[in-house]
Amino acid sequence: MSKEIDLGDYDIGIIGLGVAGSNLARLLLPHLKVIALDKKDAKGDCFDESFHKPCGGLLSQGAQKCFANQGLSLPLEILSSPQIFAINTIDIPSKIGSYIQKCYVNMERHRFDLWLKSLIPPHIEVWHNAFFKGLESLPNTHAKDTGKPSYRGRFYVQGQYYTFNARYIIGADGATSYLRRFLYPHLKTQTLVCIQEWFKESNPPMLACYFDEKITPSYSWSMSKEGYFIFGGAYLHHHCSSHFKQQKKDLASIGFVFGEKLKRESCLVLYPTRLKDFVCGRDHIFLVGEAAGFVNASTLEGISGAMSSSRILSEILNRDDSDAHRSYVRATRILVFKTLFRAYVRYPFMFVPFIRRLVLKFGILRVRKGMHKGQIQ
Ligand SMILES: Cc1cc2nc3c(=O)[nH]c(=O)nc-3n(C[C@H](O)[C@H](O)[C@H](O)COP(=O)(O)OP(=O)(O)OC[C@H]3O[C@@H](n4cnc5c(N)ncnc54)[C@H](O)[C@@H]3O)c2cc1C
Repeated sequence: MSKEIDLGDYDIGIIGLGVAGSNLARLLLPHLKVIALDKKDAKGDCFDESFHKPCGGLLSQGAQKCFANQGLSLPLEILSSPQIFAINTIDIPSKIGSYIQKCYVNMERHRFDLWLKSLIPPHIEVWHNAFFKGLESLPNTHAKDTGKPSYRGRFYVQGQYYTFNARYIIGADGATSYLRRFLYPHLKTQTLVCIQEWFKESNPPMLACYFDEKITPSYSWSMSKEGYFIFGGAYLHHHCSSHFKQQKKDLASIGFVFGEKLKRESCLVLYPTRLKDFVCGRDHIFLVGEAAGFVNASTLEGISGAMSSSRILSEILNRDDSDAHRSYVRATRILVFKTLFRAYVRYPFMFVPFIRRLVLKFGILRVRKGMHKGQIQ
């Protein structure tokens, strides 16, 4: 192996260019010297075969609001066909379902990530295929912000190791964040295994979610995208494959047709249900997006949390705040509260079985029936 190459000093090192990392890089001003790394290549593919991020690709109203307040508009190529305005919400054990109106934007997640990355300005030094491998503190730089680098980061690109020094390190590395584990090794935030399979479309276009507390504490979903029928769910680690298989059988029994299977994807999603699961970082390391816990534990939506936390951090870093960490913790309090509020207060009627069955049975919020005689409509 060749010797490590030292890239020198930076103000900021961003680890991960998903939604949060790309948005942060987009918003940082040119006076900051920034290096940004992602293990995916420039086309968004990954040499790490285990990384195939399944994502619904649905922009919630919260995410749309982030786009609105950050002055962003989505190009047409990112949208996916069809756009659907109601979600068929089905309680599997009681076989009751209702279409409930929802204002999601259906988009192609991969194209969305690439587009967001394309907005990163040229003054940010972007490294693709760059696998972040570790971090060490530089001596005597934490107690007081001296403006000098506090950490030495290490990454490799196709067998060559590189190092860099940075004053701030940003963990935007998602659900399995290295930096989250590095800073909080004893924080055991629950994760769920998401499994998703793609089939040739053989059902009428539909967006649906399924609840069955015997199979998952979360939920599962299906959607139509550009001629594909996609079925996925979030499961406890134990028996995730068998529960996924069981749910496919349950869906077939209510009338879904699974055509030819084209691909299977899986990944972990963070399931932050406690206040302590939200962590902003410390000692010149900041966490943003899912790495910080900003994902709704009920709906598993995280794009709005990634967009908001990265915008908040960019404002603090751009003004060279002398107590950047405290400012970030303060400024993200509302976001923590909103994420927990949305998970526990806004959606409990769907996640508490008794309330859900009442809502579905009595047609509260219903725009039309989702099931008829035990079969999907
Ligand atoms: C099945 C599923 C469906 C979802 N559906 C929706 C949805 O419909 N709507 C919604 O709003 N949210 C959805 N989410 C949540 C959403 O995808 C995430 O919350 C969001 O992507 C978080 O953004 P992020 O930037 O924090 O992390 P990510 O988007 O995961 O980005 C992390 C980045 O870090 C990089 N990285 C990781 N480790 C390293 C390393 N060691 N070195 C270098 N780079 C690294 C990765 O390559 C990646 O680019 C879904 C999640 C799942 C699992």
